[in-house]
Amino acid sequence: MKAPPRSSPQLKILILGGVTEANNLAELLEKHNDFIAVTSRAGVTSQRVVISGSERLGGFGGVDGLKNYLTDTSIDAVVDATHPFARNMTENAACACGQLGIPRLILQRPAWKAQKKDLWSYLPDLAGAVNYIKNLPSGRRVFLTTGQQELSAFAALPHHHFIARMIEAPDFESPPANMDILLERGPFSLAQELALMKQYQIDLLVSKNSGGQATEAKLKAAQALAVPVLMIERPPVPAGSHVVETAEQAIEWLEALRKTLTSQEDRP
Ligand code: NAP
Repeated sequence: MKAPPRSSPQLKILILGGVTEANNLAELLEKHNDFIAVTSRAGVTSQRVVISGSERLGGFGGVDGLKNYLTDTSIDAVVDATHPFARNMTENAACACGQLGIPRLILQRPAWKAQKKDLWSYLPDLAGAVNYIKNLPSGRRVFLTTGQQELSAFAALPHHHFIARMIEAPDFESPPANMDILLERGPFSLAQELALMKQYQIDLLVSKNSGGQATEAKLKAAQALAVPVLMIERPPVPAGSHVVETAEQAIEWLEALRKTLTSQEDRP
């Protein structure tokens, strides 16, 4: 289906946010006369980050809700700058934009790559990490940096101890005896990560391959301390997605799109 005609000479962009790159793009678009942007965030964290330009909060209500939003607000293009592990939102965006014929770009920072001295094992998901740890000899002290997902499954491994770091407090009735919860938001320095991993005598790190600098120091600390890492791999992006890695590249894509749409409209 073809996108509805635009009511304004500026392109109206929906940024699906949740990470730094989305905020960078919103800041660049705020200064750009050819675009009007609104950043959408799930609103799952209570500590709010200030974002340039307009903002909306909360889920859309699945694919149909997103399609209604895109149509009602006359969005010309969507930049999906959600976290690389925000699989549902990314799939919903691909589906809704595909059905409405609205151009869509994924802005996703590059994944981390193992360096020579890194001791990484790759796993497809957190359930795989739970299984992996279950089969290790007892007494491991595991640093979980993967948020709230699967916390109960990790805690159900009584022969290991977990240090779980996250932004928001988890929904436990009472904290499990084999788990310390650290409520902290990055960025974290190498000195901080080394101190933490020594203090808690960490002998295994679990990380999603989120990429980015804000939380990369834990990997450097693990390398320095020869701590093995269970690296959870990113879910694949939906087929046919165009992906860029920086807000500047997203601007280039948007400028090219604007040119194409404008030249189409100029044709008799
Ligand atoms: P998810 O599983 O992909 O999304 C779950 C639901 O939350 C979506 O179906 C959608 O609800 C709503 N949602 C997600 N992102 C949204 C956005 N930008 N604007 C409006 N609604 C949104 O995502 P998640 O893994 O729970 O992550 C939630 C948010 O936190 C995302 O924005 C993501 O970028 C950010 N984040 C995630 C991680 C991570 O590791 N997963 C890490 C850091 C930040 P409806 O179906 O109702 O539209």
